[in-house]
Amino acid sequence: MVSSVVAGLGAIMETGSAAIAEQYAEDIKDAIELEDFSFIRPNGLEAFRDNATIIQVNWYRGELLFQQREEIQERRLYSEDDPHLLEALGSEKQVGIVDEALQRYIILMPITNERDCNRCHGKEHAVLGLARLSTSLQHVNQMVTKSRDRATVVLVVVLILFLLLTYLFLHKVVIKPIQQVTRAMHLVEQGDLDQRVPELGRDELGQMARSFNAMTRKIVETYTGLELEQDKLTTIILNAGEGIVVTARNGEIVLVNPAAEKLLAKSIAEIVSQGFDQLVGDPQLISRLIEHPDSNYAESVLQGERYLSVMAARIHTQQGDILGMAALLRDVTVQQRREAYLEAISYTDELTGLLNRRSLMDILHQTIADATDKNKPLTLLMLDFDHFKQLNDNYGHAMGDQVLTTFGGLLNDRLRDSDYACRYGGEEFCVILTNTAEQGALKTAEDIRAAVSDMQVEVTVSIGMAALGQCHDLSPETLLKAADTALYRAKEQGRNKTVTFDETAPSIS
Ligand code: GH3
Ligand code: MG
Ligand code: MG
Repeated sequence: MVSSVVAGLGAIMETGSAAIAEQYAEDIKDAIELEDFSFIRPNGLEAFRDNATIIQVNWYRGELLFQQREEIQERRLYSEDDPHLLEALGSEKQVGIVDEALQRYIILMPITNERDCNRCHGKEHAVLGLARLSTSLQHVNQMVTKSRDRATVVLVVVLILFLLLTYLFLHKVVIKPIQQVTRAMHLVEQGDLDQRVPELGRDELGQMARSFNAMTRKIVETYTGLELEQDKLTTIILNAGEGIVVTARNGEIVLVNPAAEKLLAKSIAEIVSQGFDQLVGDPQLISRLIEHPDSNYAESVLQGERYLSVMAARIHTQQGDILGMAALLRDVTVQQRREAYLEAISYTDELTGLLNRRSLMDILHQTIADATDKNKPLTLLMLDFDHFKQLNDNYGHAMGDQVLTTFGGLLNDRLRDSDYACRYGGEEFCVILTNTAEQGALKTAEDIRAAVSDMQVEVTVSIGMAALGQCHDLSPETLLKAADTALYRAKEQGRNKTVTFDETAPSIS
């Protein structure tokens, strides 16, 4: 403002309107911010109050350019050695003075002697005077406060703008890429593995985007590989001859393959609704298999007409977490029957279908123990064909076999279910008559001998007989030996006889 006032004064002077400079100063004074405005000469007197300048100018111009004023006033505003005055004149710069006593702020602005001024003022003085403006400190403070408020508003606006721009920048450069990755991750999580994000820049966000894309590519590769493996596994499971049933962690059946349906003769819906422990209708069996320390442990069960081998175990992760249970079912009917057959033939004589010698010993042990326990009688018959060698010679070996087979049937027909007939070896047989004393046994022996006599082929049999009570001990060997001794006696006495084990007893027929 001070600069503008001084420039205004220059303009007035230049047009030669010096007379109005005083008025100009008076008018400026009325400006609301100013308490006082005046022009000062370098000597501290107020300008435009006397004729000094007018005389000087007229002298320079060599003409009566300005009329001298009639009324002269002399007002001293500063002493000639006033430090502020000298400072302003010396520095040719504006000087601000705080007058605490008068509560004023005073500005002294040097009016320099420009080229245009030289015409009227000469060149001697660098500074023609000073413009002096004074305003109240209160006003200055108000201005400072106002400026500060304005600056604060500007600062706030600038700050808001800065924050806005920062947000927009961050949004574009940081938030948006993160949002893209987050959205893509969410979609990947929902199963959309084709998600890719733009790979912008080489910074961390760009690296994150590249890592994300690489990760999803890897997931797709792995997923595809797993799907392939799963397809293979599914094909294997569906086409497997073994029945496979799998449960989830909660025990609910989640997989039943066609073989399981067939082996269990139940639909998937039935298997699922009945539950894992009712797979073969025996919950204890399933629990036994599950708890068995050997996961390959299996048991066979009869399901309808089939024998099923059942394995069941928990499925664990490598870390030991239980994922569920699985059962493997195999049809072992053929195997089971073969085993049963092999077991049967190990106890049976192939030609006659009677028990073999090994069975005889086992059964003899059991029946002697049983008879002893219950104090019941037991009698053993030892039977041997007479001159069988001769029969073979006469009729052929096949006929001999036929006679032996027929004899087996004949024994089975005549004996009770509680009796046991066995082929002891060659053409020699044994019969255990349980709960039978000597008399009853003799009757049976004679009945057998009679039946042999009635066979189509002319053949006879000798029989040795020993009752358990006749022996000095209760071992099978002693009983067998006694019966064999009796048989020997029968042969000795002419064959086709039944002889009871008793050294002293005579032959009964
Ligand atoms: P004995 O009256 O003294 O008992 O005379 P044997 O001829 O019956 O007795 P031996 O012990 O001398 O001969 C037994 C014969 O039985 C000899 C053998 O060929 C015949 N034999 C043994 N096992 C079989 C068989 O499985 N089939 C046939 N066809 N013959 C058999
Ligand atoms: Mg014989
Ligand atoms: Mg013999």
